[in-house]
Amino acid sequence: MGKVAINFKEGTIAQNKTDIIVGIDLGTTNSLIAYMQDGKAQIIADANDNTLLVPSIIYYDEDSEQIFVGESAKKQLTLHPESTIYSVKRLMGKSYQDMQPNKHLGYTLHPSEDQNIKIKLKDKYYNPIELSAMILNYLKDRAEHALNQKITKAVITVPSYFNDHQRQATRDAGKLAGMEVLRIINEPTAASLAYGLGLNKNENKIIAVYDLGGGTFDVSILRLEDGIFDVLSTNGNTELGGDDFDQAIIQYWEKNQQLIIPIEYKEKNTLRQFAETAKIFTNESGHFSGTYNNQNLELNTDILNQILEPFIAKTITCCKNAMNDSKLKLNEIDEVILVGGSTRLNQVQNRVSEFFNKTVNTNLNPDQVVALGAAIQADILAGNNKEFLLIDVTPLSLGIETIGGLMDTIIPRNSKIPISQARSYTTSVDGQKNLKVAIFQGERELVEHNHKLGELILKNIPPMPAGLPKIEIQFLINPDGILKVKAKELRTQTEQDIEIKSTINLSEEQMALMLIYSIKNAQADLDKRALIEIKNEVKYLIANYNRFLDQNKVHLSDSEKIILQTSIQKLQSTQDYTDKNSIQTQIDEINNSTAPIAHRMMDITIQTALSGQSINNANHE
Ligand code: ADP
Ligand code: MG
Repeated sequence: MGKVAINFKEGTIAQNKTDIIVGIDLGTTNSLIAYMQDGKAQIIADANDNTLLVPSIIYYDEDSEQIFVGESAKKQLTLHPESTIYSVKRLMGKSYQDMQPNKHLGYTLHPSEDQNIKIKLKDKYYNPIELSAMILNYLKDRAEHALNQKITKAVITVPSYFNDHQRQATRDAGKLAGMEVLRIINEPTAASLAYGLGLNKNENKIIAVYDLGGGTFDVSILRLEDGIFDVLSTNGNTELGGDDFDQAIIQYWEKNQQLIIPIEYKEKNTLRQFAETAKIFTNESGHFSGTYNNQNLELNTDILNQILEPFIAKTITCCKNAMNDSKLKLNEIDEVILVGGSTRLNQVQNRVSEFFNKTVNTNLNPDQVVALGAAIQADILAGNNKEFLLIDVTPLSLGIETIGGLMDTIIPRNSKIPISQARSYTTSVDGQKNLKVAIFQGERELVEHNHKLGELILKNIPPMPAGLPKIEIQFLINPDGILKVKAKELRTQTEQDIEIKSTINLSEEQMALMLIYSIKNAQADLDKRALIEIKNEVKYLIANYNRFLDQNKVHLSDSEKIILQTSIQKLQSTQDYTDKNSIQTQIDEINNSTAPIAHRMMDITIQTALSGQSINNANHE
């Protein structure tokens, strides 16, 4: 929720300086950090050379015993490959076993005691979370210097196929880097936000996001409905990306231009970077010519396209699979968004556009869109975008109305979402068939002061005496803030549910006022609540006394019957009382006078049971 600071002493809304929440694209090859400046998402650049991308590479320098991250670490890849760590993202949330066999990494993975992965740098071991935290720390430092402000909160993106472990590992890395990770969001969702999709609440669209990076490819089909993104399907190949193109170019040169491929890892790497330059240059200017180790090497568009073709064909197959899984037709796709540095290749753009039969979105930089979108999401979470207030915690308590118009809170205010909470209820009338569940939001004790969000009626409860049915009411809020309320009678499994799309149709001011009023009226509200509760208890006692009288009429003496009947009358008269304490005094007195009768009946019941007689009269009508 937007941070509305409340001055509890004065009961006013305080205006506070809002923290900057950064958006981070923690990539396999490159990472970026962005923030919102005057309503525009902005990538934060390096102070010295103005570069935006931070290579996701870590280098441990033995001499200075220092860790280097980014461009300076990338340089070491060719000089000290054994102490240079890259592609850490591939290891996040994975066990040692998951990564076997492992032929891709230039450094060695070791199993930890709990079968997780650890990586040795000099004489210390690090796990993937710690290594990712180093990259995040570097990004955070960059932002703190550029913005001259401490950064403590972030939104971090992950691929849509990341499972819970991988997401949690990413969250932990953020925490380790000293940031509260307000939200982990899917990369395709971030990319869509960067293109302005999802910022208009009434917009409904189907979006295909094609992401081709350095070493991975994925495609996601998203449904955008009322400002909420749903991943309909996702497909891809975690072993396919720009690095493969570079390798294929090298192989082409070996075969056709007498290139001698070096054996040493260092040399291999220099050559790979040379090939990458050739790829980018050819794509931009149609032709490349250069010398590597005194060998002249060339490339042109036609050849580049031939080299790329088998790889691109694989990605198109993935797109077909994703389309099949989404159960949608190609003409239902409204937008195609390109993400990842490799989608700068003209041939990639052409083939993707051809497959979806649609012009692709290329206005934004494909290697920046994810970070830009993360910054937009961060801004929404900061509450700066009033139109589109996404909640990260429940801004107000959510609950249902119980007897006497009381608010029974099921999910308290400030609970982190997603969340699921359930509570059991029962009927208050014998043979009750329907139960109305009215859903409210707010901090006041009586629902009349809160906001009604909706209601559902649980029908067809089998007739049972009051208090016997077990009805579970469950509140679920998904990460997008949608509340689903389910009511279920547990004996018969009768079920009913309702979805409440927006639990935030209140403005921030209204929410803040609600809190202030709840605090100002706290004592009065609590007194009212206590009065209603005790009156509910009295009603329950009256029903019990009536039942007791009825069930035990054969054993009760006339004087006992009179005591019980006057007790019931006295109880009934307390319904007009406005003071809780005098009702309580009445209840205590009545309990004292009827206790001996209850004991005598209990003894009779036990004796009867012991003598083998059945006294099964509990289910009277
Ligand atoms: P990741 O998401 O895996 O971190 P990126 O989106 O940063 O990766 O993409 C990195 C890849 O993009 C590299 O393989 C790089 O060679 C490629 N790339 C970057 N710029 C261009 C370009 N102009 N033309 C072709 N490929 C490019
Ligand atoms: Mg990426």
